[in-house]
Amino acid sequence: MAGLQCRKYQWYRENARDEIPEPDFSTRFMFKQGMLVGEYAKKLFPGGIDLGKLRNIGEQLGKTSEVLPERRPIFEASAGTDKIYSRVDILKPASGDSWDLIEVKSATQLKEGYLHDIAFQKHTFLQAGINISNCYLAFINNQYIKQGEIDPEGFFDMRDITVEVDEVMMSIPDTVEEMLEVLQRPDPPDIKIGRQCDHPYSCPLKGKCWEFMPENHVFNLYGKKDKAANLYSQGILSIEEIPEGYGLNLKQQIQKDCATTKKPRVDRGQISAFLDRLKAPIYFFDFETYSTALPIYEGTKPFQRIPFQYSVHALDDLYGESVHYDFLASGNGDPRKELLENLKKHLGDSGSIIVYYEFFEKGVLNELAGDFPEYEEWVESVIPRIIDLYRPFGDFYYYNSIQQGSASVKSVLPAITDYSYKDMDIADGLSASVYFLYACGHYKIGESCPTPEEVDKIRKDLITYCRMDTGGMIHILRGLKEVLGKSQR
Ligand code: SF4
Repeated sequence: MAGLQCRKYQWYRENARDEIPEPDFSTRFMFKQGMLVGEYAKKLFPGGIDLGKLRNIGEQLGKTSEVLPERRPIFEASAGTDKIYSRVDILKPASGDSWDLIEVKSATQLKEGYLHDIAFQKHTFLQAGINISNCYLAFINNQYIKQGEIDPEGFFDMRDITVEVDEVMMSIPDTVEEMLEVLQRPDPPDIKIGRQCDHPYSCPLKGKCWEFMPENHVFNLYGKKDKAANLYSQGILSIEEIPEGYGLNLKQQIQKDCATTKKPRVDRGQISAFLDRLKAPIYFFDFETYSTALPIYEGTKPFQRIPFQYSVHALDDLYGESVHYDFLASGNGDPRKELLENLKKHLGDSGSIIVYYEFFEKGVLNELAGDFPEYEEWVESVIPRIIDLYRPFGDFYYYNSIQQGSASVKSVLPAITDYSYKDMDIADGLSASVYFLYACGHYKIGESCPTPEEVDKIRKDLITYCRMDTGGMIHILRGLKEVLGKSQR
């Protein structure tokens, strides 16, 4: 799969693994989620033989050959030849001497990459003389609702993908030969950076491969990356160098103008209209949520967003003293009801509620109203008060090259104020959710649990981070008011 993304990445994985940075805390959490789902899928076939604990390839191959004659489901069965090796999640006896191959994914839908993954497994098993009948993908049923112990039959959807896999199989022998040739080279292949660096995953070698790119490079152009790839192939690296008349859209042209003039873009009319919508008192509001593949609480679904923290800053006028409220769940039990009770008090009855990227906060509030109907009326009264501070930046009413093409709050804050998220121990939403899960024991690294000191530090960092989100919005809004004063347009 690494090789399909980029042969250079695959070469490093095989020949210079030390040069690939270790996955961060959040990425390891994602891997762990996948592992937990894989473990759960074993419950679909009670009485199966589990070879998952064997770490050595020789042992895995030997043990698989040894247990195949038993004709029982095998978890983590291996097969290989002198050149290729593969391990499958579940091998299930089918008719005659054949086997069905089942790949388990911590996902709610089929992705094209999975077919390549499974086609390679089938190819390897066939090459090793193990007859494969059908191929299945076991993925997560996102409509499953937890009621008591998770029922594996209801939690997983099983889809027969034999036809799709067989189509992909045709290209496997040539791909494998070519990959093996690349892997044996003394040096990595010379592959230019491009869209593949972020598809399907962000490549961990980006820091190394992208080092030479200037600030405001063409891949920061707003929208699809095809234009950027085309410019890059012509040797144009920075947005500033893009020739006039190249065919940039409106937002991309703003990026070019700002990079060239070194001045921000300020659309006074639109910013004034946005600010005129605000009604005092003004509330600045931000949720943090987590989601897990295996639902934790009764009545919740896989990957459902569970809000566990919020921050609210309230001001009577934009330059007045703010009052701060926050909520951080204890970590014992479903936090949603208590969070709602508190939030209802802290968001008041009137005035604007400023959020950054309204789809998130509105979406979570609506989900809460669905699960706690006694709050439905209150949620309905809150939603019309929400104003999205993302809008002036997402629509480029204000743009500054410092944003590097991004309208996220993390990019906008240092562009329009003197504040930033730099040097914060928790500085993004995904890390916040993973650290919270770790602190309350829902995510374990190995067998270790966090010490009370660690938990204390995580909780303080979480409060600081969420407070920064709403405090930062106050600064951004003030920044917008101030640029109106400075702008000549
Ligand atoms: S950063 Fe891009 S070019 Fe470099 S190895 Fe990764 S995918 Fe390949």
